[in-house]
Amino acid sequence: MTLLATKKMEQNYKCKFCGTKFHKETTLSTHMCVKKRRHMDIDSTGSRLGFRTFQRFFEKTTRSKSLKTEDDFINSTYYIDFVKFGNHLALLKPVHTEKYVDFVIVNGVKLKDWTKDFVYDTYIEDLVRREPAVSATERSISTIVEWCDISSTSFSEFFSNVSANEAAYLIKTGKISPWVLYLASTADALMSRFTEDHSNMIGNIIDPGAWMKKFKKQDDDVTYIREVLEQAGL
Ligand SMILES: [Zn+2]
Repeated sequence: MTLLATKKMEQNYKCKFCGTKFHKETTLSTHMCVKKRRHMDIDSTGSRLGFRTFQRFFEKTTRSKSLKTEDDFINSTYYIDFVKFGNHLALLKPVHTEKYVDFVIVNGVKLKDWTKDFVYDTYIEDLVRREPAVSATERSISTIVEWCDISSTSFSEFFSNVSANEAAYLIKTGKISPWVLYLASTADALMSRFTEDHSNMIGNIIDPGAWMKKFKKQDDDVTYIREVLEQAGL
C-alpha cells in the first residue's frame, strides 16, 4: 500500500503543455518541450506578429465569432509558418502592417508565399495606385525628413542628394509616392538620373501615363498637394 501511495505522489508533476509526468517538481521546472518553448516565446516580436496574423486569418476566413487563443496558436500545425511570417513582418516593416496582413489573407495568397518579394511588390503597387493623396504625401514627407536627418541634408536638397538607387528603392517599397515624385518641383533633379534599370524596377509604380490620367481626374488634389510640397520647401 505504502509503495503504491508513493508511486501516485511521484506522478504529481505534469507538464501542462505536453502531458509528460515527472517525479520531482524541479525536474518539471527545468523540463523543456516544443510547446512549452512556444509558450515561453509568445512575447517575442515574430511570435506576437505571427499570433496576431493567425487570429486575423481565422477572423477573415471563417464564420466563427470567437477569437483564436494563444493555446490554439501554439497547438496549430501552421505555428511555424505564422511565426516565420511574423519575423518577416518585423524585418520588412510594411507600409500599413494590418493592411498588408489583410492583403495576403483576402487575396488567398498561399501561406508558403507570404514571405516572398513578389507578394509585397504587388501589395505596394496596388496601395500606391489607390491610396488618398494626403496620406501618400504625409508618408513620403516623413520618409524624406528621416533621410535628411540621418544624412544631415537640408530638406530642399533631398532630391538632388539622394542616390538614384536609394530613391528607386524608396519608391519600390512605397516609402515615397508618385504624388510627391511628380508634383514636387525639386524632384526633377532625381528623375533625370534614373536609368533603364531603375525604370524596370519601378516602372509599374511610377507609370507616367497612368499618373497623368489620375492627376487630370483629381485636379483639386493636385493643386492642394503642390501647395503642401511648396510650403515644405520641396
Ligand atoms: Zn512539456
